[in-house]
Amino acid sequence: MVINVKASTRNYDILIEDGIFGKTGEIIKNFANGTKVFFVIDQNVFDIFGENLKKMLEKNGIEFLYFVLPSGEKSKCGKMLFKIYSCLAENKISRKDTVVALGGGVCGDLTGFAAATFLRGVRLIQIPTTLLAQVDSSVGGKVAIDLPEGKNLAGCFYPPHLVVIDPFMLKTLPESVFNCGMAEVIKYGAIYDKVLFDTLCDRENLSANLEKVIARCVDIKRIIVENDEFDTGERMLLNFGHTYGHVVEKYFNYEKYSHGEAVAIGMAHITKISEENGICEKGTYDALKNLLEKYSLMFDEPEIPRESAEETLLLDKKSGTDYINYVVLEKIGKAKILKLNKKENFLWKN
Ligand code: NAD
Ligand code: ZN
Repeated sequence: MVINVKASTRNYDILIEDGIFGKTGEIIKNFANGTKVFFVIDQNVFDIFGENLKKMLEKNGIEFLYFVLPSGEKSKCGKMLFKIYSCLAENKISRKDTVVALGGGVCGDLTGFAAATFLRGVRLIQIPTTLLAQVDSSVGGKVAIDLPEGKNLAGCFYPPHLVVIDPFMLKTLPESVFNCGMAEVIKYGAIYDKVLFDTLCDRENLSANLEKVIARCVDIKRIIVENDEFDTGERMLLNFGHTYGHVVEKYFNYEKYSHGEAVAIGMAHITKISEENGICEKGTYDALKNLLEKYSLMFDEPEIPRESAEETLLLDKKSGTDYINYVVLEKIGKAKILKLNKKENFLWKN
């Protein structure tokens, strides 16, 4: 399946197909058309797929230029960015050449930012290898690195030139990493598509439906992002569960809960409170809770002091000086943005 995304600087295709990674040699050959291709590859992904990739490229007469990125969020930093710049310079990568990100969201965000800024922009292919990266970070053009002061603080909008998604590559993911991506998949169903939400409830059949599920998530993200590329309105809907999720991640120093787990806690938290306040249809919270449970994403609500929570919320990029934007469900499949004055913030329990 091919999904075409329209962005202001360029339109790009997202190819989604089980086993498409096996055609990487041909795809890259056609794309590069004789120019150089430089890969940035997550260490774990390199260990699993590196040998095969090398063979496919050699078969197609493409020189395998690459940098292996240590796995983990710590790599999404300025130091790694400069290492990548140096490799690109040493290999004399020019503006006509291509940088490929092969890995999860960490590799995609970092490599994307490198591609956006090296020579003021070289061509970029994203080959996302985690569920989160396939349904979320590789689509929509946001690229960034973390600073010691906070996550994603330096970045830009830089749409890729091509995205290649192979759901088969997810078979080697640890279950917890897969489930972390499921939190985002559940989010798409909850905010936009009840049919998708109901499909996910049938966990036994998920792997048979995975290609379709991923394609639907990518398409939902495409629709939302095309309407609001630069994140000033509707794109905020994608933030469902993230406002309180960030509070949870930060309070526990990004250690206790993964991003997906924190988002799951955030989705459950906001939905419970908004149902209690009559904002969403009765039964919505139970439906969400039951689905999260199926993917080991339902947790006891962590105790977070109100002051720490408010401190993080005040810094929320998506809010103004005296209000906080919350994304709430009206029912499964439909979300809206609630702009709440910081003083009348009734969404807190205590
Ligand atoms: P990640 O990139 O750290 O990958 C998670 C783990 O899976 C790593 O250990 C990695 O080595 C391993 N891995 C990757 N592919 C594998 C495979 N096929 N088989 C086995 N192991 C594999 O984490 P992630 O969850 O993919 O991404 C998180 C990052 O994405 C965060 O930095 C977040 O800020 C960013 N993000 C960006 C956007 C965006 O719009 N740009 C959106 C959401 C998240
Ligand atoms: Zn997220």
